[in-house]
Amino acid sequence: MSLILNGFQLAGLILRTNLTPKVIPVKFLHTSFTKFGVQDTEEEEKTNTIERVPISKDRSKVIPVETSIRYMASNAYKLTYGKDPVWKIYRRNHKGPNPPPKTRRTCIRAEVISTGSPCPICRDEYLVLDYRNVDLLKQFISEHSGEILSYKKTGLCQRAHNNLLIAILKAKEYGLLTFDVPLRYYDYSEWKTS
Ligand SMILES: [Zn+2]
Repeated sequence: MSLILNGFQLAGLILRTNLTPKVIPVKFLHTSFTKFGVQDTEEEEKTNTIERVPISKDRSKVIPVETSIRYMASNAYKLTYGKDPVWKIYRRNHKGPNPPPKTRRTCIRAEVISTGSPCPICRDEYLVLDYRNVDLLKQFISEHSGEILSYKKTGLCQRAHNNLLIAILKAKEYGLLTFDVPLRYYDYSEWKTS
């Protein structure tokens, strides 16, 4: 009898270990994109073995926008974020129940991440805010109203949010982002000569 019970316990243990989902901590979110940065997209699909490495805190290396645009279309990006916008799984880290009205000033000081919970842009060095990186910019614009989402919703630090505003304005000026112009009514009778 005790042997059967032991067998049940063992089966339960095996089931539990298999059923519980393996949660990846946020600091290990970033996949090793360095491999994909150099390789072409065809080779990228062949190498399915992606190692999860701890996020590097060094931000002295400048990532070109072209690499960032390729990263947005890569398998590494899809594995990390899926179809959600980059800020969706980010939660602000603050003391007490209510968050402070403004997010932190910056996440990067002296080219090193100076906080334990860097904002969605700062934590992933391959997300470059630039007017050419339209796929990234679109994630920060409301699809219903066309407004730029607040840092209270996205959790961006003030520096990243400022860079976002500049990039979006520039993208609109270059015609890469479409937007609606508010409708105006003019009284043309003022121009008519009587
Ligand atoms: Zn930041």
